[in-house]
Amino acid sequence: MKRRGDNIRRSSTSEGAAVERFHHLINGVTTTGTSGNVGPVYNPATGLQVGEVDLASVEDTNAAVATAAAAFPAWRATSLATRTKLMYRFRELVDTNRDEIARRISAQHGKTLPDADGEVARGLENIEFAAGVANATAGRFTEQASTGVDVYDTRQPLGVTVGITPFNFPAMVPMWMFPMAVAAGNTFILKPSEKDPAASLYIAELMNEAGFPPGVMNVLNGDKVAVDRLLRHPDVKAVSFVGSTPIAKYIQATSVEHGKRVQALAGAKNHMIVLPDADIGLAADAAVSAGFGSAGERCMAISVVVAVGEIADPLVDAITERMAGLTVGPGDDSSTDMGPLVTGEHRDKVAAYVAAGDEAGADVVVDGRTLKFEGDGFYFGPTLIDRVRPEMTVYTDEIFGPVLSVVRVETYDEGIELIASNQWGNGAAIFTRDGGAARQFVFDADAGMIGVNVPIPVPVGYYSFGGWGESLFGDTHMYGPEGFRFWTRNKVVTSRWPDPSTSTIDLGFPRND
Ligand code: NAD
Repeated sequence: MKRRGDNIRRSSTSEGAAVERFHHLINGVTTTGTSGNVGPVYNPATGLQVGEVDLASVEDTNAAVATAAAAFPAWRATSLATRTKLMYRFRELVDTNRDEIARRISAQHGKTLPDADGEVARGLENIEFAAGVANATAGRFTEQASTGVDVYDTRQPLGVTVGITPFNFPAMVPMWMFPMAVAAGNTFILKPSEKDPAASLYIAELMNEAGFPPGVMNVLNGDKVAVDRLLRHPDVKAVSFVGSTPIAKYIQATSVEHGKRVQALAGAKNHMIVLPDADIGLAADAAVSAGFGSAGERCMAISVVVAVGEIADPLVDAITERMAGLTVGPGDDSSTDMGPLVTGEHRDKVAAYVAAGDEAGADVVVDGRTLKFEGDGFYFGPTLIDRVRPEMTVYTDEIFGPVLSVVRVETYDEGIELIASNQWGNGAAIFTRDGGAARQFVFDADAGMIGVNVPIPVPVGYYSFGGWGESLFGDTHMYGPEGFRFWTRNKVVTSRWPDPSTSTIDLGFPRND
């Protein structure tokens, strides 16, 4: 009997320090694969390497696809009743073990434990929706469409499906994908981020424990080598991706070239317009929460506050005041509000953006570069940059760190134009007490997910998640009803049970009479 955690082995680095080793989980068992290549895994709070992750070769990837392909026929023939029961069991196991999942997220990503628990909670919504797959599968039936002819449609699974996920939500984003993919009758290969593989491996073990047959859910760790093979393998039918915009573009183009269904969710620069009539305290609380939660490493983080008219000065003051109360520290310390960034390299990139904004003439009101930390953790202080102009890199680029920019505009229309001319369109929010203005914003704003006095409008699990512009490549959004459509294809059946005595030969095109 396999126990949870069996895919993790203790070994040593060349310096002799004990590190955990993260393997693949294929066909229900742990495997090291054949590549011999490993990548480092860090604890961002200490800056120390704490693990090594196997990086799959082309042969390892082929083996994972062969396993998932072999498991598909029996799994798609498994009744909806059984699939539903397994999904309920899995849901209970994730809920029961949510502290352990949160611990694993925090240890490799750096986010605080309550934030990590929130991530698990949002993932649970996706499992719950997937457990209701039977409702989604119900098709249409039309009796007597023609004399003696009935027509119905049904949605069927695709086969071997793949999810490629980013570092910033190592548990939730995989759960946006695989619960519905599997519930709909597909087999699945998850290629998690090589930066923080522990949480998704643990969750896949819970799938095993729930009783999903071997080969239905597989985790293949790796980098570009594994991804490139998955995108080209003839037995892979669909690819769901979440990550940065350049890679998303590549994933979409390559998947399409190789005849696969693809959805590729990408980067973001989310704006929060604050109208002059807004409650300043409420708007400042929201900007600080949504700008610095998870150290800004969220695709739905607010990175631009658009201050309209005379509210700018008091709003910047209120945000600054609140930032002074933020505690930066290890994610597992209960007094910490904001944890470190994921790697030292990323921390340095964030610092370089702040320097560029400073040099370009923006006003660095709170400068995260000045905060000093003990040890080698990848910390960077929360940063507020006022009087940012749209041509500055601090505005044009996705920083993905704890850097909040304020762009001052004179009118609502200028704010709307700013959002429309931005390359991304994930989320956008408005803060106002004017219902008419809020309604107009919902109509006008060029983004896929809108918040009205809500800074992070991530849709609940029974709606679907997706941005516009360069925040999503493909047609379908993720999870919820659109997720079900992505993981299935439609079949229409035209059926007749004729009386042999009335049978004739007719070479004309069939008409409905
Ligand atoms: P990333 O693009 O670097 O990596 C994402 C995945 O792609 C990883 O599994 C990685 O191994 C793989 N990958 C990386 N480079 C590759 C290459 N050259 N070829 C093939 N595969 C490659 O993204 P990240 O840094 O892990 O995550 C942060 C990004 O994800 C941000 O841009 C953020 O906005 C975005 N994101 C978007 C959403 C959304 O829903 N739109 C949600 C979360 C994160």
